[in-house]
Parts: sequence; C-alpha cells; structure tokens
Amino acid sequence: MAVSCRHTVGIISGNSLELNAEDWNSRLMDFMAVVDDFNVRGQRDQISHPGFVSEYKFCTLCGERLDREALGLLTYSEAFDRYMDAKG
Ligand SMILES: [Zn+2]
Repeated sequence: MAVSCRHTVGIISGNSLELNAEDWNSRLMDFMAVVDDFNVRGQRDQISHPGFVSEYKFCTLCGERLDREALGLLTYSEAFDRYMDAKG
C-alpha cells in the first residue's frame, strides 16, 4: 500500500516546526495578521519584526519537487491580498 507523503512545504516565523501542505495556508493567513499588525503598529511602537516565510521547492521528507500551485498552496502575496480583502 502506497503511503502518501504529507510534504513539508516551508517555514513561517512563529512556527517552530516545518509546516506540511495541510497546515500551510491557514498558518500563512495567521502570519498575515501578524505582518499587518506590524505594518500598522510598527510605525509608532517598538514591536519586534514578524520574521520571514520560507517556501520550499522540494519536500524535505521525500525529496519530491513541490508543485506549489497543484498542492493549492498560497504564495505570500496571494495570502496578503486575501487577508486585506477579508479585512475590507
Ligand atoms: Zn514529501
């Protein structure tokens, strides 16, 4: 029986572990809220920089090349646009 890999697809600051494909979009959306807060409040308050997103090209578990679009993974800019749309 074939075991399908859950694919590690990247790292988002604030998450100590590599994220798998299932968790990526929701964690990225959570991160957008942190970035947005930094962009707004960071103008006047000393708050720490939210950090960075690292999108892998290859799964670190199975080594397969990640077709991020086929996996339905949001890019940073897509997530940001989606966040801003939802915010209204
Ligand atoms: Zn994999």
